[in-house]
Amino acid sequence: MPNPHASPEAYQREIRRLQEIIAHNSDWLWEVDAQGRYTFCSAHSEQMLGYAPSAVLGRTPFDFMPPAEAERVGAEFAAIVAQQRPFAGLINRNLHADGRLVVLETSGIPLFGEDGRFVGYRGIDRDITPAIGSLSPRMVQLEALYAAAPVALGLVDREGRFVNANRALIRLLGLEGMPLAGQPVARYFAVQQLDVPGMFTRLAAGESIADQALPLNGRYYQVTIQAVRDDGLDQLIGMTLAITDVTEQHRLRQELAEANQRMALANARLSELADNDYLTGLPNRRRFDETLQAEVARCRRDGRALSLMLLDIDFFKRYNDHYGHQAGDECLRRLAQLLRNGLFRTSDLACRYGGEEFAVILPGLDSPGAEDVAERLRERLLAAAVPHETAPTCITASIGIATLNGSDLSQPGLAPAGSATQLLAAADRRLYMAKRGGRNQVSVATL
Ligand code: GH3
Ligand code: MG
Ligand code: MG
Repeated sequence: MPNPHASPEAYQREIRRLQEIIAHNSDWLWEVDAQGRYTFCSAHSEQMLGYAPSAVLGRTPFDFMPPAEAERVGAEFAAIVAQQRPFAGLINRNLHADGRLVVLETSGIPLFGEDGRFVGYRGIDRDITPAIGSLSPRMVQLEALYAAAPVALGLVDREGRFVNANRALIRLLGLEGMPLAGQPVARYFAVQQLDVPGMFTRLAAGESIADQALPLNGRYYQVTIQAVRDDGLDQLIGMTLAITDVTEQHRLRQELAEANQRMALANARLSELADNDYLTGLPNRRRFDETLQAEVARCRRDGRALSLMLLDIDFFKRYNDHYGHQAGDECLRRLAQLLRNGLFRTSDLACRYGGEEFAVILPGLDSPGAEDVAERLRERLLAAAVPHETAPTCITASIGIATLNGSDLSQPGLAPAGSATQLLAAADRRLYMAKRGGRNQVSVATL
């Protein structure tokens, strides 16, 4: 500024010199007050924006910008003013009086009064429209869309710095009013959250990057990464980040997974209930029928033996009558446990056939083998000596056995279902004979 305390001639000379510099300078010189209103405006405003200085004074730079641009630059400028710092190279789009878009590059320094108070800015605007080409209104519309998109969007350069960010991204990072451009991504996202260098390595190798989950401040986001390549040279020059809030989807997915887990548990419990007898926990008649069919088919295929044992408690009606139904139930449970403990092969299957009758499927066991097992079970029950006052000794059982030999089944025309029925009928006949023979005994059929 000219020094008003110098001699009047020197002062006038300095004023003229400054006016000359301003006139011959192609930049627009201006000053704004603390509210951003123009208080000084060189004649260049006429060439650059089509407005005479008199039409500019008292207004703000944002009055000459399209609304979306005014909002974008306004936010950037507010952050600069908040720090009262000098700035340079602030690119902004303005509307010429004739409707054309003019791109200006603005630089400025803060001004302070004698008392040290911030009073405004002094700066220059340079028209860079010819250098970068005027942006079409379509471009401005796209920029407005970008700025207002609900998805957080940002552009990152090869050095891992934000080139720009839309409002949603700035809000996501809680950085309202602060310029994000030029800041390293790593300042806001730990490398475990977003490995920018690693992603650039993969993008440079031509790989694409799958969307990744990003938990942040108690919410869940999905990050989509795209490479940005130079048009002509196909060089990787940066990447775009799109961060979508998927908290709700995440919550629903979790609830669904939990519901599925509960359902699987319920299904498992249901099939357990469907397959097992409620009182004894042994497989029920349904399981027995299925298993017997399958074992008969296997026996036919492999040519192995298959034995079936039917076991019936002796004088059980009297036991119930004498001790009560609950004691009867308890007795059935004890017998079930005795069967479980008395069978050694994993392929042996004891089932509750019905009432006080049990069936044991013994795959691969021939008639003498099955008789041994039956004798062992009968003796164990006898040894358990469960009192039965209205019977000759204690709780005993009668057992009927029937065996199929694999070779028998190779006869043509003998269906597996038929074989199972025959086996059951034979075992049942033998059980009847064991009862007739005086109970507490094993009777073996030779098919
Ligand atoms: P046998 O020696 O000839 O086999 O005579 P039994 O009395 O054992 O035979 P019967 O068929 O006459 O009676 C079987 C009894 O088993 C009748 C029924 O009350 C009893 N029973 C069947 N199912 C259950 C059950 O689930 N719980 C109890 N407590 N008793 C049952
Ligand atoms: Mg019976
Ligand atoms: Mg009985």
